[in-house]
Amino acid sequence: MSERFIPLSVPSLRGNELKYVSQAIETEWVSSAGSYIQEFEENTMNYVGARGAVAVQNGSSGLHIALKLMDVSDGDEVIVPTLTFIAAVNPVKYCNAEPVFMDCDDSLGMDPSKLKKFFEEECENVNGALRNKVTLKPIKAIVVVHVFGNMADMESIMEIAEKYQVPVIEDATEAIGTYYTEGIFEGRYAGTIGNIGVYSFNGNKIMTTGGGGMIVSHDTNLLDRARYLTTQAKSDPLYYIHDEVGYNYRMTNLQAALGLAQLEQLENFIATKSKNYNIYKQELKEINGLELLNFRKGTRPNYWFYGIAIKESYGLHRHQLIESLGNKKIQARPIWDLIHQQKPYRDNQAYEIDQAKVYLNKIVNVPCSSNLSSEDVHYIVESLKKQ
Ligand SMILES: *Cc1c(COP(=O)(O)O)cnc(C)c1O
Repeated sequence: MSERFIPLSVPSLRGNELKYVSQAIETEWVSSAGSYIQEFEENTMNYVGARGAVAVQNGSSGLHIALKLMDVSDGDEVIVPTLTFIAAVNPVKYCNAEPVFMDCDDSLGMDPSKLKKFFEEECENVNGALRNKVTLKPIKAIVVVHVFGNMADMESIMEIAEKYQVPVIEDATEAIGTYYTEGIFEGRYAGTIGNIGVYSFNGNKIMTTGGGGMIVSHDTNLLDRARYLTTQAKSDPLYYIHDEVGYNYRMTNLQAALGLAQLEQLENFIATKSKNYNIYKQELKEINGLELLNFRKGTRPNYWFYGIAIKESYGLHRHQLIESLGNKKIQARPIWDLIHQQKPYRDNQAYEIDQAKVYLNKIVNVPCSSNLSSEDVHYIVESLKKQ
């Protein structure tokens, strides 16, 4: 069988990438000015149906700016998930604010019932603003992550956020292309439902610009401010007048050239990932003790990452499974360690975390690249059987 290494998630750059990047180089427009940036922003905005888009250096810088736009600063608190990549949480600290950790539900996204209970029981409303009863700090935002490209329960989360008047930042870094196909948000894409959304184009994401990100919103004031803050807060275009501390977070034309070509292929990537997901789903049914995680009903997910839940009946722990696949040159990895247990965050409040602890020990990610062949998927499933 296959002797080659099957990586977890690698980019596919077989479209117009080389052509557009070459054009950027030939015209010598490689930096943060150049026509590809605007074109990439417009095409992304149109694809997800946002009012505007601001291209940035990466998802992390986009999230940092999103928090600044929600006025998160010194002494504030932000609700975040504990089961996610740490880049969703670190920007809270960049703003000198503190995260409060929430549990997940079966979608691996934030558990709305616990969010609601936390607001109801642990917070109070003072002069129209919500604050934590214990720390007395204001709750300035909720960061919702669409884990593995699976839509978090936005219907419930938005209802709670609206009731308590707390803005929602969607960390849609893993979820470009995911949208609701029914319900109150029918047709709405991940990243365009909350106040502001952020995508990532890191190398392991569904589409890549090498490193890159995009801020989207329906609020043009927020977008104008995002553009301002990411461009060194240049208040006058000629005379170097700066009225605030800004950042050099703008995407380059070279990155945008890649992004433009990747976006052209995004629907094809999703089609391949969806096909492979269904093969995994079908074939894993025959393996006792392994189950492929579902994506939310009533959505069209982007199928970015496949999560396999290991039950006790499988007979192997996650590290044994990862090792055994590794011996067959198949790259698998565990889900992220919980953030509230990590060194920088151990003193932060973590609210009734238990589901996340269960998932931590049983989820493994298996290869899901957009150029993975069905033969590879069969081989991986065979390898999962023979332990
Ligand atoms: C990838 C990722 C980020 C950060 O994006 P970068 O472009 O790598 O900075 C943030 N949050 C989550 C959940 C991610 O998966």
